[in-house]
Amino acid sequence: MYVAGIDVGSTATKVVLLADGRLKAAAIENTGADIAKTTSLCLEKALRDARIEARNLASVVATGYGREKVSEANKTVCEISCLARGSRELAPRARTIIDIGGRDFRVIRLDESGAVVNSVVNDRCAAGTGRFLELMAQKTGIELSDFGRVWCQAREPVKLSSSCTVFIASEVEELMARGVPRPAIIRGICDAVAEKIACASKDLGVEPPVVLVGGVSQNHGIRKALEKCFSSRIVVPPMAQFAGAYGAALAAMEALGMLEVSCARNG
Ligand code: ADP
Repeated sequence: MYVAGIDVGSTATKVVLLADGRLKAAAIENTGADIAKTTSLCLEKALRDARIEARNLASVVATGYGREKVSEANKTVCEISCLARGSRELAPRARTIIDIGGRDFRVIRLDESGAVVNSVVNDRCAAGTGRFLELMAQKTGIELSDFGRVWCQAREPVKLSSSCTVFIASEVEELMARGVPRPAIIRGICDAVAEKIACASKDLGVEPPVVLVGGVSQNHGIRKALEKCFSSRIVVPPMAQFAGAYGAALAAMEALGMLEVSCARNG
């Protein structure tokens, strides 16, 4: 039995295909302006990789900010629910999930069974999101994939005085002009993002194991900064960027009556 989960994020669209509950294929595309077209392309890519025809999909669930525009979906499910399910599948003992995407972040607390206890989403400010980090990479000339290595090189990290994107950007320019070493600036940026997430989630009661998902989970500077900030190991499971799409695929199985009720409690 084949099912698909589609996560239409503001930046990237992800598809996960399961065959009898096992991962069969995954695909990713930049979301762009034409959501319906991107989604169809991404789904076709995954189906081609899996050598499955679209008519053989028994159920398709869409999640993410563009989920209503997915014509192939039989059902839509909210992001929090899909992220919780998908993350628990990828990291089965997860109690706190931090999802950092292109334009937003979320922190979700789960109980022992995996049910959602509470969650927070960032305010409208872009600081603490993938887009903001891309901008900082451009300003500093350091590749996002290098943030982890550079973070470790910082001898005296700078403390950025603002948490607002516009002010941080000009503060970074000023530090660069003063000749402050770039590792110190990169560490300051990552620490500011981690502090923003910690501040947003202070009422949730963050509990380990803490799992980081979303595209920014691939930024090791952010992982290190979060570990320092939360004084806790941060787990980045395989396929972390696909957690929402994975959860949507599990919801598609549930829609067919193929999953146990305990999963359904997630929302
Ligand atoms: P959304 O679901 O909000 O569209 P994603 O969770 O797919 O977003 O994450 C997209 C973000 O992930 C982008 O802003 C991008 O900068 C970041 N990202 C993707 N790949 C990497 C990478 N290899 N290293 C660091 N950041 C990355």
